[in-house]
Amino acid sequence: MELYYQPKLHAGYRTVVGAEALMRWHTPDRKVLVPGQFMAVAEHNEVIRPVTWWAIKSAVSRLARWPEELSIAVNITPSLLLGDEIISVVRDALDIHMVKPKRLTLEVLESIMVENQEAMLSQLERLRKIGVKISIDDFGTGFSSLSYFRDLPADEIKIDKSFVIPMLSSKKDHAIVKSVIDLAHNFSLQVVAEGVEDMEIAARLTDLNCDVLQGYVFDRPLPAADFEKRHLP
Ligand code: C2E
Ligand code: CA
Ligand code: CA
Repeated sequence: MELYYQPKLHAGYRTVVGAEALMRWHTPDRKVLVPGQFMAVAEHNEVIRPVTWWAIKSAVSRLARWPEELSIAVNITPSLLLGDEIISVVRDALDIHMVKPKRLTLEVLESIMVENQEAMLSQLERLRKIGVKISIDDFGTGFSSLSYFRDLPADEIKIDKSFVIPMLSSKKDHAIVKSVIDLAHNFSLQVVAEGVEDMEIAARLTDLNCDVLQGYVFDRPLPAADFEKRHLP
């Protein structure tokens, strides 16, 4: 397993503010698989547990070597969010590497709220008490009700790429992106657009006051050493 890193940029200044850690699997026959090719199996086998804890530790140890102003986001499978284990894994990793909690973001799917809403809300609250940031991933695909916004213990939402990619050719997708940015800002949430594939979309997102941009136009997910060569000072 290896974590690749894709840059997240400040929408206005276009400077790198951090990275999302994305899992890759090097198979014995030297192929590199993307999560779509192994994550379902990993989740089914409970392998996902040690792999996720490893991802958190690995990202935090990377943060210890990166400039103070950069953050890293790690994706967390819904089934591992509840319980005490994640709390201690996150705390221990930050303590051991002496990394400020606010530099670590946990990306969780919007759909976690569909079941177990009460338990999820209080768990996100516990994680935020440690000081880490919570980001709601694939926003717009999870069918959550608007009342969920009112009490959402999160710092950031990520607009799903299925709305971002067609936003210049589809008026409706454009309207969704614009509305979600305004709605999120009214609740003091930072907005990230993922799937930014060209500069024209980047410019439009900046005009719409989106805060952070991520996508192939800036760079693909890269092995850590390549990311560091290309994006660190
Ligand atoms: P995600 O969290 O929504 O991550 C964004 C995905 O979009 C990544 O796919 C990324 O490579 C891809 N992407 C980035 N920029 C662009 C773009 O401009 N255009 C398009 N079309 N795609 C773009 P990837 O790396 O294949 O990961 C797929 C999914 O696997 C992730 O979706 C995430 O849900 C999951 N995943 C990745 N790493 C982990 C992990 O460590 N743990 C867990 N639980 N899930 C992970
Ligand atoms: Ca993500
Ligand atoms: Ca996403």
